[in-house]
Amino acid sequence: MQDLKSLSYEELLKNITDLNEPGYRAEQIFGWLHKKMVSGFDEMLNVPASLRNRMKESFSFTGLTIADVLESKKDGTKKFLFRLEDGNVIESVFMRYEHGCSVCISSQVGCAMGCRFCASGIGGKVRDLKAGEMLEQIYHISKNENERISNVVVMGTGEPFDNFDNFCRFYELLTDKRGLGLSGRNVTVSTCGIVEKIYELAEKGYPLTLAISLHAPNDELRRSMMPIARKYSISDIIKACDDYFAVTGRRVTYEYSLAEGVNDTPECADELSGLLAGKNCHVNLIPVNPVEGKGFERADIRRITAFKNILEKNGINATIRRGMGGDIDAACGQLRRKYISGG
Ligand code: SAH
Repeated sequence: MQDLKSLSYEELLKNITDLNEPGYRAEQIFGWLHKKMVSGFDEMLNVPASLRNRMKESFSFTGLTIADVLESKKDGTKKFLFRLEDGNVIESVFMRYEHGCSVCISSQVGCAMGCRFCASGIGGKVRDLKAGEMLEQIYHISKNENERISNVVVMGTGEPFDNFDNFCRFYELLTDKRGLGLSGRNVTVSTCGIVEKIYELAEKGYPLTLAISLHAPNDELRRSMMPIARKYSISDIIKACDDYFAVTGRRVTYEYSLAEGVNDTPECADELSGLLAGKNCHVNLIPVNPVEGKGFERADIRRITAFKNILEKNGINATIRRGMGGDIDAACGQLRRKYISGG
């Protein structure tokens, strides 16, 4: 059965008219799904019961349920653990900032990329998430917190460009004016750098922010941290990002997680400066969140600051991301791991 919440407006309209129903029903149903964020057919009050029943025969309704919520005592960040219909669990993070609320969502159950410092890849990829399942994470959190969500980051578990079509479908639904109508500028998607998808995304012309998980200034070091670096070189990634900027006019963010003694040296900062000099881009420095047994320790804040200073001296924009929710395993896949391993 087709997942109702993953259908574009045009697809929904076609399905509704195929059922010999007037077109305005599609608009009503789309509004119930993506504006009012209902969790069942029978909540669509102005849709006749007969139509609701016929829809039940042809469509499934993505149902996420909240399995657990953890709240950080430090900053109010909340981590949501959701159970999917097939029993899998995924996690999402809710953050409240002065300028609005932000949700970080997962794009897959598990992840196939296997980055050495990351908890999400332990156990590999289980499956892709449907567009509706990505949306539901946001809808559930918005309803639960009774807050309008103004920013969405696709930086949870999973590699969104390894689930590219569903990601694009998700993005288009999220920014559809007939639904939540989030501004594309308030969406960030993070990738480990699947080069051909960077070009494809540029073609789409979405005004979102593209973030690249670089983490190393040369291929040798990058390969020791991220298996995907064996497939794509840094120079090919940066070339694709330059193309992305040329086509979309959107400044690319490079993410660089710093691990003590691995990639946090002044030499690394110089080498990174060489790669990015003169580019209109931004570097996000992230202290590594140590995952048990992975052997990556958090770089000292003084070393991170020194790293940032070198970049800035070389004319490169850089910020240190403040770690939120550190006390609730908010980093990438750590809660889900704990949950499925019974820890
Ligand atoms: N697969 C995507 C998005 C998921 S991870 C990607 O690779 O970009 C979001 C970001 O957190 C990535 O930059 C990722 O490399 C980083 N990350 C993962 N585990 C981390 C950890 N333990 N400490 C710091 N950053 C981590």
